[in-house]
Amino acid sequence: ESKLALITRFIRQFPDFPSKGIVFRDICPIMKHPAALTAVMDLFEKHVRETQPLVDLIVGIDARGFLFGPLLAQRLGVGFVMVRKKGKLPGPTVSVAYTLEYGTAEAEIQEDSVSPGQKVVLIDDLLATGGTLFAACELMKKRGAEILGCLVVVELNDLSGREKLKPHAVFSLIQY
Ligand code: IMP
Repeated sequence: ESKLALITRFIRQFPDFPSKGIVFRDICPIMKHPAALTAVMDLFEKHVRETQPLVDLIVGIDARGFLFGPLLAQRLGVGFVMVRKKGKLPGPTVSVAYTLEYGTAEAEIQEDSVSPGQKVVLIDDLLATGGTLFAACELMKKRGAEILGCLVVVELNDLSGREKLKPHAVFSLIQY
């Protein structure tokens, strides 16, 4: 069985969650299956080593980007930084507001977490409209970081997140 086939077996879907008409893709089973999680990390590590070997930092998105980001950073021997929902991080912070399907949200980093010129790769579990990763990219730009690309386990093609994130490259393992 290929790594991608293995990973696909451990992604579930829940119709009408969190609201009617939405099909929620759930990566939790991957976390319970060591071989599936290893396959995810193997594919991410291979991609970054081959295409972004100069990466300085992995930047993970609240909350499921925190599941994969630190594992990847460890494999690459680089640091990990959290993009959090507003109000969670102590000390001087930089924040950016963005729109969700209903209402708005704010994403935040610690000001000293990223330095100008550092090369970053962003990571999350899933790309939908791209609004969340776009906001994280804005934070990186505010700090003068160089964005090498974005990584997600799952990409929902119909929502065109990939277009929204241009010119930044998106690497996804599974597409629906
Ligand atoms: P976007 O901002 O529309 O691209 O939505 C992506 C963000 O919402 C990510 O942080 C995901 O974790 C979360 N998200 C949206 N839809 C799903 C889903 O179907 N499954 C899991 N997470 C989702």
